[in-house]
Formats: sequence, structure tokens, C-alpha cells
Amino acid sequence: MSRHPLFWSLGLFFAPLLLVLSLGPLLTATISRQLLERKEHELLAYQASRNQALEHAVLTQLPQFRFDCGPDDMALLQDPTYYNRHIRFAGIRTAQGKSCSTLGPGLPILEDAKETSSLTDFAFTTTYSPFDTDRELLIYAKYDGHLIYWALSNSWVYELMQTPCRDCFYLEFSHQDPAHEHLYFPRGNGAIKQQPERISVTEIDEYNRVEQTLWAGAELRRYAAKQVRHYGLLGAASLGLLLVLAYWLLRNYRNSLSGLLKLGLQRGEFIPFYQPIVDCRTREVVGYEALIRWQRGDEVISPGMFIDYAEQQGLIVPITDQLVRQVVADLDRLTEPRWVSVNLVADHLEHAYLPQMLEKVQWPSPDRLTFELTERLPITNIKAAAREIAKLGLRGYHFKIDDFGTGYGGFAYLQQLGIKSIKIDKMFVDTIGTQDFKRSVLDAIIAFGRESKMEMIAEGVEHQAQIDYLLARGVYLIQGYVYAKPMPLEEALAWSPSLAIPQAGSA
Ligand code: C2E
Ligand code: CA
Ligand code: CA
Repeated sequence: MSRHPLFWSLGLFFAPLLLVLSLGPLLTATISRQLLERKEHELLAYQASRNQALEHAVLTQLPQFRFDCGPDDMALLQDPTYYNRHIRFAGIRTAQGKSCSTLGPGLPILEDAKETSSLTDFAFTTTYSPFDTDRELLIYAKYDGHLIYWALSNSWVYELMQTPCRDCFYLEFSHQDPAHEHLYFPRGNGAIKQQPERISVTEIDEYNRVEQTLWAGAELRRYAAKQVRHYGLLGAASLGLLLVLAYWLLRNYRNSLSGLLKLGLQRGEFIPFYQPIVDCRTREVVGYEALIRWQRGDEVISPGMFIDYAEQQGLIVPITDQLVRQVVADLDRLTEPRWVSVNLVADHLEHAYLPQMLEKVQWPSPDRLTFELTERLPITNIKAAAREIAKLGLRGYHFKIDDFGTGYGGFAYLQQLGIKSIKIDKMFVDTIGTQDFKRSVLDAIIAFGRESKMEMIAEGVEHQAQIDYLLARGVYLIQGYVYAKPMPLEEALAWSPSLAIPQAGSA
């Protein structure tokens, strides 16, 4: 993160806003469709409950009529149990020609009503003006000369259709049966059906052969766009603020970590632990890898917790300086000709920090201080690195490629950098005794190493079976828990391979 913090803060704040703005049309279309589908469900749910209520009311009311338009019939017609919000009016015309209804003594209705097979066999038609400008559904039954009818209220449709925005929907009910073609009801904003960007959902009631299509167009889109602007921008601004807050918290934390690393440097808290590398043929220690530890009071912090960050912060070079000074001091106490291998980063060679450091420490035996260059992080300036390695090689220093086979450098690295030693990564050693395809890579690496007369060190060896496999293929330099973990100097001095109890068994 080398850019100015303000750049990141503004970027993080505006990124969600830009995202919402660029996704605006897509979000609007999605929300419009969702609103349309939600409205359709709302309509269907209402219709289902209305139909249930109506069926119950009509079937309970019907057997109670005397069909004489007398006071009992009038009371029954006007009984609020039946004359409820679903019914706009209901009426009777008796076989004797008397008419009565909830709206008055008699209405000129259904002159052309057809006979039904019983009073519980219903027929449908629609109302006509002067009762309504919009047609309503009329249910009737005509039998034995008596006619009874109920006009269903359609005001519910208007109420439902005006939410969440006015004139946003248009609904059409139609009957699929040609005999009922007249049962066609348009509701809502009819202009929508002509709009080019209209969307629709159709529901077919197979049983009653009724089809209902709900449409939405520009009005709903405008409403959805407003929602996107309103809630989307509000949400994006809140998210932006959260991201900026998180960024500053992380920055503070990282700054404090960087402060702690600098303090650690001042206090000399970076020390080497030593992990022996053993020749398994002779069980002799040939050398050690120096693995850094951050000793803060009683706490020993592993490199995984800080090395990457130290590298990002440009602190790895002074930290390695501190480590190498300690290694050089320790080398006097470590038995000759055992060597110590120190881990480097690309900067050390690309920017010639390593020669500067060696200049400062003035160590006289270059064959006892060797260096590891990981293949995991690629070197960008190979030429500069190769130049430094060649110069230091002339002075007697040796280099190893660490984590061999895990990165991009591979065999080309060895040739370009002129390195004659490889450390075979644990990832490959782990495949010994398994069917993992990487085992063939391990075999190929070993074959290559042998043919090119490379020194080979196997890393992360944990079992005797792995040693046996490696030795059978000519790899005898072993580093791993099978012998010892990385140890502080005093322990490393006291340690010998005879103390190690190799674990038998397969890996
Ligand atoms: P690396 O260079 O590959 O070091 C080997 C790591 O494997 C070490 O972890 C070591 O403790 C661990 N190891 C060795 N044998 C076994 C084994 O048998 N089983 C298992 N499970 N692990 C084993 P460590 O000490 O935590 O170091 C981790 C990494 O940190 C090192 O990986 C290296 O990349 C980096 N590192 C350590 N010290 C330094 C340093 O001074 N400078 C730089 N630049 N990087 C360092
Ligand atoms: Ca290493
Ligand atoms: Ca390694």
C-alpha cells in the first residue's frame, strides 16, 4: 500500500457508490420484476381468501331464502354476514315476478339469464352500466323461475393495484372458454400494455379456465429506480464508511506492528533458531538452517507472523542484518566445519544489500555461511541477482534454492543464477508413501539433481520411511522433525543425532 491513505479512503468510500450507479439499470430491472411478482402473489392470495369467504357465505345463505321477497328474504339479503365487503349488491327475482335487492326494491338485471340445473349450480356474467363503468363479476343461479344473483365488489383490486406506487400495474382477467368470452375484466392503468418496456406475469387457473395477466411498465420502473437510488446509495454510502473505518483500523494496527518491529530491531529481539541438517548415512550434523524468531520477553514469535509484513515495510533487510550478526557470533561456537544457512529475500541480491552486509560483518570463512533463496517469490531482476551471486561465489560464498519445485523459477533459475544446491520442499517429501501425483515430481527433481550433480537437501522430513526412500535415491542430507525442530543456540550446541528417535512407519 504505497499510495497516500487519502487515496485509499476516497477509493473505498466511492467504490460501492460507483458499483451501485453502474449496476443501477440492472438493479432497477431486477427490482421491477420482483415487485411485479410480489404483486401477483398478493393478488392471488387475496383472491384465494375471497373465494373461500364467498363460497362459504353463498352456500349458507342460499337454502334460507323463501323466494317471495318478503321481510325474511330482505333481512337475509341485508344480513351483514352475507352482505359483506366482497359483495357490492345481491338480489332476487322470484318466479312470481317480484324483485328485491340490497340496493332497493328491484333492479332491472339479468334479463337474459340462462337457466341453471339447480339453485346451487352457478353461472357467471358481468354487470353492465349504469351500475358500473368498470364491469364487475356477477354470479347467479336461475332455477324453477327464481333468479338469485350476487355482484362481486371489485374495489379491492383498485386498492391493491395502487401500492406501492400509483398506476404502476395493469391487470387483465379473461376466460379461456369461448362460451365465456364476455368474462373479460381490465383493471388498472391500461396504457401500460402499449409501453415498449412492459413486463408481465401470467397465471392460469386450469380448473376454472381463467387466465390473469399482470403488467407493469415505465411507472413501476421509475419507482424501482427511485428505490435503487434511495436505498442503494444509502447502503453504498454506509458500506463505504464501514470500509474506510476498517481500512483505518487495519492501518493503525499495521502501523503499530511496524512500530513494534522497529522497536524490536532497536532492542535486538530478532534471533536465530537452528535446525540441524544431518547426513543420514553417517548421522553427522553437516550444518544448520538459521530460522528467525522474534523474542519479545517470554514470547517467541514465528516468522510466519511477521516476515511478509516486514518485507512489505522494507524492514526485512535490517532484520536479516541483525540475524546474520548473531549467526556470525554463534558460528564461533558451532563445531567446524558445520555451516549455517541464512534465508534471503530477492532485495538482498537485486539491490546488493547482501555484499554490503557481508562487508560489515567481515566473516572470514565463507564456506561456513551459506544463503537460501526461496523460489516461492520470483526474482524480478534476474541479471542483477546472477551478477551478485557470481561475485560472491568468487569470494567463496554458496547459495541454495529453497522450496525447490514450488515456484516459477524451476530449473531455469538454477542455470541463470548458477546455483548448485537445492532444498526439496516438504510438499514433495510429504508425498512419499502416497499415491499423490506430486510423488512423480519428487522423483523427477531427484533424478535431475543427481544428473546435474546438485547438492540436495530434503526438507520437512518427519519419518524414517521418508529417509529410507530418499536415501535409496541418493538424497542423504536430511532436515526435519525426524531429527530435530529448530532450537535456540544452547540447545543446538548440546544436540546430537543420537538423541533423535526416528519415527518408524510410513509417511
Ligand atoms: P523455510 O525456509 O522453508 O523453513 C522451513 C520451515 O519448515 C521452518 O519453519 C521449519 O521450522 C519448518 N520445518 C522444518 N522441518 C519440518 C518438519 O519436519 N515438519 C514441519 N511441519 N515443518 C518443518 P519456520 O521456522 O516457521 O519458518 C517458516 C518460514 O519463514 C521459512 O520457511 C522461511 O521462508 C521464513 N523464514 C524463517 N527465517 C527467515 C529469515 O531469517 N529470513 C527470511 N527472509 N525468511 C525466513
Ligand atoms: Ca529456508
Ligand atoms: Ca524451505
